Amino acid sequence: MRGRVAGWFTGWRLWRLPSHVRMYVLLVNVVAVGTTLATAWLAPVHRIDLVRFGVLAVCAALAIEATRHIERQREYSRAPTVAYVDTKAVWSIAAVVALPAILASAMVVLTYAVAWWRVWPHERPVLPHRWIFSCATVLCGTQAAVAVLALGMHEYPGVLAGGFGPGLLDLVVFVLAAGLRWAINTALVMVAIALSSPPRSFADLFSGFGDQLLEAGAIGLGLVTAALLLLANPLLLAGVVIALVALHRGLLLTQFQRDARTDVTTGLATKRWWRTVAERYLERARANQDSVGVLLLDLDHFKAINDTYGHPTGDLVLREIALSLRDEVREQDVCGRWGGEEFAIALPDIPSAEHLGHIADRIRRRVPQVVVALPDQDSVISDLTVSIGCALYPAEHLASVDDVLVAADAALYRAKQAGRNRVELASA
Ligand code: GH3
Ligand code: MG
Ligand code: MG
Repeated sequence: MRGRVAGWFTGWRLWRLPSHVRMYVLLVNVVAVGTTLATAWLAPVHRIDLVRFGVLAVCAALAIEATRHIERQREYSRAPTVAYVDTKAVWSIAAVVALPAILASAMVVLTYAVAWWRVWPHERPVLPHRWIFSCATVLCGTQAAVAVLALGMHEYPGVLAGGFGPGLLDLVVFVLAAGLRWAINTALVMVAIALSSPPRSFADLFSGFGDQLLEAGAIGLGLVTAALLLLANPLLLAGVVIALVALHRGLLLTQFQRDARTDVTTGLATKRWWRTVAERYLERARANQDSVGVLLLDLDHFKAINDTYGHPTGDLVLREIALSLRDEVREQDVCGRWGGEEFAIALPDIPSAEHLGHIADRIRRRVPQVVVALPDQDSVISDLTVSIGCALYPAEHLASVDDVLVAADAALYRAKQAGRNRVELASA
């Protein structure tokens, strides 16, 4: 048994990290333990504190349990250069305000332990040091928050003082404390990420920053939770759990939906999502006696790009072309990736086939201007051309999206036959 535990411990990936990363991780862990011990004596623990800790712990466990499948997905699909953010902070923020420091630290450890046990996919290689490190960064931030609260709050631990002036002052102190906790935690994680998988650019580190809204929401809910815990019937915390789980699911499901609708190579709509939107546009046009234009684009001689520069570079070119397409059309025009190097664009409210032809021609003239810098080389790829087939709904024999697509595809075929780098309109 002892040998198994030792084997598990020495198998941690931590020991195989580059030495400077390992040193950094260990240092943060040591600082976390040190500061946690240093603040532990700040406020005595009473029996009622233990009861409140128990109530918070139950709520935290329930909330983590109810969101664990989504959290597991998020952790899987997270880019390696982006810090992982979730709503566990609600419980540890509430604890840092309402409970003595030692219990606030215990709440951090508890929520991380529960999440590690319930959320972390066990079939994955063991990386316990990552969770211990994340927990340590939050502990460091928590101790800083404890110090600010202990120094600044009228009553620590406790919620805002009564009365407008004193209450406002306490609120400012709370915001400072929570902000500091967040900043320290985030900075420590970002340094670790930057050390272990150097981001290509500074912007990369901040690419998942929208997620930080979750953290802000968690901080706000944490304050409310603390107030409910101290001032009201703790059963009211059921409301916080429900709100948290519902919002969390609502927000994150939307995020997943968006991911599922986006083609990863180009960032355009997937074929399926494009079709769904195009169908809606057609329905609306039917109801409002409007028209919808559809363009099908196929890059000319794209195989040569792949053959010359390789498939990954081809993908890069596709992405740049996609960006220029989006740039060339209106907000409501939806660009999709139809196939390998084929794109489809649906444009609502197009007055005439002639107008549609103008737009298509503008896009055709734009494509050769796309310049793609080759990674690690001094040269660029440019002067690509595209052939475009256009069809306008409504027209005779066009009843569905499929009909419109068939008509646009036939026009595209004619554009290719006629020598490429051309726009052809579907014949009436
Ligand atoms: P043309 O359209 O002018 O007739 O010639 P083409 O060479 O572009 O021929 P086609 O439209 O049939 O091109 C398909 C080529 O597109 C085959 C493949 O090399 C490339 N392609 C398809 N999908 C992808 C992809 O996802 N990434 C990359 N890099 N290339 C792709
Ligand atoms: Mg093609
Ligand atoms: Mg082609």
